[in-house]
This record gives sequence, structure tokens and C-alpha cells, in this order.
Amino acid sequence: MNANKIPHRIYLTEDQMPKQWYNLRADMKEQPDPMLNPTTLQPATEEDLYPVFCRELAHQEMDATTRYVDIPEEVQDFYKMYRPSPLCRAYNLEKALGTPAKIYYKFEGNNTSGSHKLNSAVAQAYYAKKEGLSSLTTETGAGQWGTALSEACAFFGLPLTVFMVKVSCEQKPFRKAVIQTFGGNVIASPSNTTQAGRKILEDNPHTGGSLGCAISEAVEKAVSTPGCRYVLGSVLNQVLLHQSIIGLESKQAMELIEEYPDIIIGCAGGGSNLGGLISPFMQDKLTGKANPRIVAVEPASCPSLTRGRYAYDFCDTAKITPMARMYTLGSGFMPSPNHAGGLRYHGMSPILSKLYHDGYMEAVSVEQTRVFEAATLFAKQETILPAPESAHAIRTAIDEALKCKETGEAKTILFGLTGTGYFDMTAYSAFLEGRMNDYIPTEEDLKPGFESLPDIPQNHF
Ligand SMILES: *Cc1c(COP(=O)(O)O)cnc(C)c1O
Repeated sequence: MNANKIPHRIYLTEDQMPKQWYNLRADMKEQPDPMLNPTTLQPATEEDLYPVFCRELAHQEMDATTRYVDIPEEVQDFYKMYRPSPLCRAYNLEKALGTPAKIYYKFEGNNTSGSHKLNSAVAQAYYAKKEGLSSLTTETGAGQWGTALSEACAFFGLPLTVFMVKVSCEQKPFRKAVIQTFGGNVIASPSNTTQAGRKILEDNPHTGGSLGCAISEAVEKAVSTPGCRYVLGSVLNQVLLHQSIIGLESKQAMELIEEYPDIIIGCAGGGSNLGGLISPFMQDKLTGKANPRIVAVEPASCPSLTRGRYAYDFCDTAKITPMARMYTLGSGFMPSPNHAGGLRYHGMSPILSKLYHDGYMEAVSVEQTRVFEAATLFAKQETILPAPESAHAIRTAIDEALKCKETGEAKTILFGLTGTGYFDMTAYSAFLEGRMNDYIPTEEDLKPGFESLPDIPQNHF
């Protein structure tokens, strides 16, 4: 197809939308190491997960063999309210950069939650409702997950408590108001409503909180409240499964215009959007059909893939959840308070960690002022105000496109534009007024996190 006939936005029709999620583990040559029960240090079973997750989700978490999983009709119907999301050709950005590269992005910000997180929130709320649970708890850092889950819970009529990282609560009061509008009960974390929160406040009364500590509070509330379960918006295998819709739609849309990416780029916090975006392309790579480069982009201030250890760790600071082997900075790691936006989780999806460890993907870290430079350039050219998280992927896509300018190669680049940044204007203002600085942790800064890693034999491999 003639390149300049490709439309700015490529949409699938409702009929063309995927009816199944894709489970990447089914095609992995080697599986991620098993999750461990923290008391016995033995591989966790599906039953071990029942106190924390609802049954269907516990099953999805452990299921490494079912390649395609049917998307329940109710979830498909919900998806149709805001999907398919557009695959966009960044013609104006390409022109501004003067690059021969073709840049595509999959835009997941066209819903009230402002991010891809709704894709998994609706699935998790649906299964919880179907099982007859009476309420859900969760944590939220930057606020997108809390918003997405409150939308989904409102739709299915499930009460929800959201432990929101205290600094985010203060920096983003409107995020909190949106969650409350959908009926969510927002509690600033650490709080004195849980043992975990009280303990953290005792040790560190002025802490602004962290995602790990909010997770601990939410898990504690779930296990101590009858009919209540905890749901998590990233990192977990089940979340990557639900997010595969991003990659499946992207691949299908690219097929319509006879394109295939040479490079796929995604920002990486806990790895859910990246894992979802790359899943069908990684399938091609694992099965030898194609060999695209896959690049994870993380903040220099929270560098779990590029500077973390591949070790068993807790997913939360209260050490309640099963341990997973992943790239981690240690559950005791707290990112610098001057780091803006999300992507502040200490670990990384065990699936992506394994793929990275085995050389199937690359990782880079970028500093936040360069991220916001990319964000503002992108906003002006493409008229979308990106979330700071998404702008990490934009930064690296621009860097790759500029490399193409030097070499004259017309590579096809696909990146995930995970969301919009309307609630991140404090960070944008700091950048615009020259008040934003870069913070790269020293080895000394990373030490306490690594020292918090559990002392178990597998960590000495
Ligand atoms: C949560 C979030 C991310 C990071 O989470 P992943 O699980 O790594 O995808 C990225 N972008 C936006 C807009 C988010 O809300």
C-alpha cells in the first residue's frame, strides 16, 4: 500500500475486535519461576491464592498453558463502550523530527480513567461480581488504576475501597474526586485503618507513602473483611492476559495497512501495558515468525529492569502476597519524592522479567526532564496531552526515530501511548517553569532496597 494513503487513525470495526485474550506463557520456551508461598517457600498453588484473589482470577494467574482465553460477553460489551482504541500514525511528529521512520502509536487514553488500566479493571470487577463477592479493595499510585477500577465497580455494582498513595492524594485532589464520583471510598496511604499502615507510620511518620505500602494496606483489608478481595492493576500474569487486547488490536490494525513493526516500545511500571502491547509480536518472536526489537522504557529514578536484581521478592511491603521471581529494586525501595507521575513500582512483571532475562527484549532508562521534553513536543505535534508515564515511550520512540534520521533507515516504530496527562499538570508546570530536576539513585541509594530482599536459597543462584 502506498505509505501516504495510510490514514491518520486506523480503527477496527466492532466485529473485528478480539473475542479472546492471548496468554503469552503458552508460547514461552521456559516459564517464569514459580510463585512461592511466603510461609512454606514452596511453589504456591491456585488454592493458596484464594484468600487474596477471586477464583477465576487465581486460575488465570496460574494458568500457563491455555493459549487463548475467551473474553466474557459482558466484558466484550463493556469494551465496546470505549474500544477499539485507535492505532495512530504520527505523521506530524515524523515531520517535526525530519525522520524517514514511520511512527505508529496505539492510543489507550480515550476513556475517563485516561489509561489502558480499564481493560483489566472491567475483567476483574466482572469476575468478582460473578463469584458473588461483596466488595473489592485496591491501591492506586498515580490514580489511573483507582479511577479505572471505580468505573468498573460502579458498572457492576460492587463497593470499592481505594488506598491512594498519600503524595498522589495531595498532588492530585481531582483524581480522588473522580474516584469518589464513581462511588469509590478513597483512603490516603499509609493510613491508621490497617496494621500495616500503622506500622509504617510508626517507623516513618512523614512518609509520602509508596505503591508497595498501599498494596499492603489493601491486601490486609481484603483478607480481614469477609467477601472482600484485593485486585491489582499491573505486574500480575492475569493483568497481562487482559491487556493483551492492546497488542491483538494493534497487530490486526497493522495487518489492515500491511505494516509490521521493526521496533516495539512501551513504558514499563509493573509491565502490564508493555506486556499487553507486545504479546502477539512476542508470540511471533518466540515461534520464529518475526524478529522485532522490543524495548521497555523505565524512569532513571526507578530502574527495576536496568539496575534491579533478578530475584524472588514480595510484591508488597507488608510481605503478605506470594513471592515472585522478577527484576526488582527490593520491596523496601522508595523512589525519590521528586520523581513525577507513576512508574514507581519496585518490581516488574515476572513474565516480562523472564523474557528480558532470556534476551527476548531490551530495556532503557530515561531521565524525567528528557521525558517531559518529549511529552511537550508530542503534544504540540499530535494534539494529545500524554501521561508522563506514556511519555517515557514517546521519548524512546523519538530517540529511535532520530537514529533512523542519521542512518537513513525507514524503520517502522510502534509504541504504546498508554494515557492522557490532564491530572499531571503539577509535574508539567514544574517542567515548564524549570523546577523539574533529574534524580538518578546512587548505588548507595539502592542498597536498602536490595537489603530488603528475602533471604531465600533461590536468591543465591
Ligand atoms: C499505570 C500506568 C502505566 C504503567 O503501568 P504498567 O503496568 O507498566 O503498564 C503507564 N501508563 C499509564 C497511563 C498508566 O496509567
